[in-house]
Amino acid sequence: MQAIADLIPWMRSRAEALDRTASFPDEELARLRSAGALAPRAHDALVKLLILVGQGNLSVGRILEAHVNALHLMARFGAIPDDGLLYALWVTDPPSGGLRMRVSGSRITLTGGKQFCSGAGHATGALVTAEDDNGDTRMLVLPLDIGERVSPLPAPLSGMRAAVTGAVDFDGCEAPADALLGGPGDYLREPDFSAGAWRGSAVALGGLIALVDHALLQLHESGRVDNPHTRARLGKTLIARETGRLWVHAAARIAEDPLADTSYRVSAVGLTRIAVETACLDAMRWVQRSLGLTAFRQGTAVERICRDLSAYLRQPAPDEVLTEAAAWFASHPDACIEDRSL
Ligand SMILES: Cc1cc2nc3c(=O)[nH]c(=O)nc-3n(C[C@H](O)[C@H](O)[C@H](O)COP(=O)(O)OP(=O)(O)OC[C@H]3O[C@@H](n4cnc5c(N)ncnc54)[C@H](O)[C@@H]3O)c2cc1C
Repeated sequence: MQAIADLIPWMRSRAEALDRTASFPDEELARLRSAGALAPRAHDALVKLLILVGQGNLSVGRILEAHVNALHLMARFGAIPDDGLLYALWVTDPPSGGLRMRVSGSRITLTGGKQFCSGAGHATGALVTAEDDNGDTRMLVLPLDIGERVSPLPAPLSGMRAAVTGAVDFDGCEAPADALLGGPGDYLREPDFSAGAWRGSAVALGGLIALVDHALLQLHESGRVDNPHTRARLGKTLIARETGRLWVHAAARIAEDPLADTSYRVSAVGLTRIAVETACLDAMRWVQRSLGLTAFRQGTAVERICRDLSAYLRQPAPDEVLTEAAAWFASHPDACIEDRSL
């Protein structure tokens, strides 16, 4: 882990340029690969890795998170990943023309495409979902460069620009039948479908930690850190950061515990998602209030991290996630997220 920690200052020093030019972090991923960060690892090491990389650059964290999520699904459903590939996870369909598949003999023909594809044009493999002729959702593990066409989103995201999130059209592409992963509906199977979201929360927490680091530096430089109002906001910001840290570590432990109840795993991660989102939104508000207009100057780390976090925190169906988790905990009043083995 030290080799990865050593890369963080270097990643931070390059984050502004990558954001400005919306450039994919090829070099960061190459060095992370050399340091072993792209290989599978147990959850207690993985949580540290994702938080660390999020501290370096949220876009790099997002790309790594997708790769790890793809590896996780491959391990779960019995496929062997190609060690040399950087995997994307493309599961979001556009409003019309979503990805569909048809098996004919030993080949699978694809029509349609995906949107919000991080690493589009840069990832070298992808785990995608596609609807089959029965209307079931299937998973496919594809090598990329099979004739797919990448285009920018019609309106690009304002944050997470270095994650290079675009649209990918697979119309007319073919894959071998052994590209299929798992069976019909396996992608939506719990707890993996929902509980894996702790990994995104871990990366976001890394962004929050970096935001506090940069804000503190700026407050020291401006001589405003000892102002009592600033101190009060700083205290609340630190509570948000440490709250996020407690939730993320708990979520990783619960989500990856194969002996724990499936609904508990899903619900604990659901609460974590919203807790970390709230912590980040609160911290951004207090940091922006303390720094004032300086927090909005383009080219500064605080401005970029707030912009990246604002985009990255928009994850699917937050209202449903919160209310479903609330309903489960309401009907299991003794359930909690504390580590009772301690
Ligand atoms: C930086 C970034 C990179 C991404 N990269 C990828 C990628 O590589 N691959 C990929 O597949 N996807 C990717 N995504 C997309 C991601 O998987 C989600 O699709 C996206 O984040 C969903 O956000 P949303 O705000 O549109 O969610 P929504 O679920 O649309 O939520 C928006 C709001 O609508 C509400 N809502 C949801 N459903 C309903 C409903 N039925 N009726 C009324 N209200 C509703 C929600 O509660 C929320 O308030 C990426 C997203 C980001 C931010």
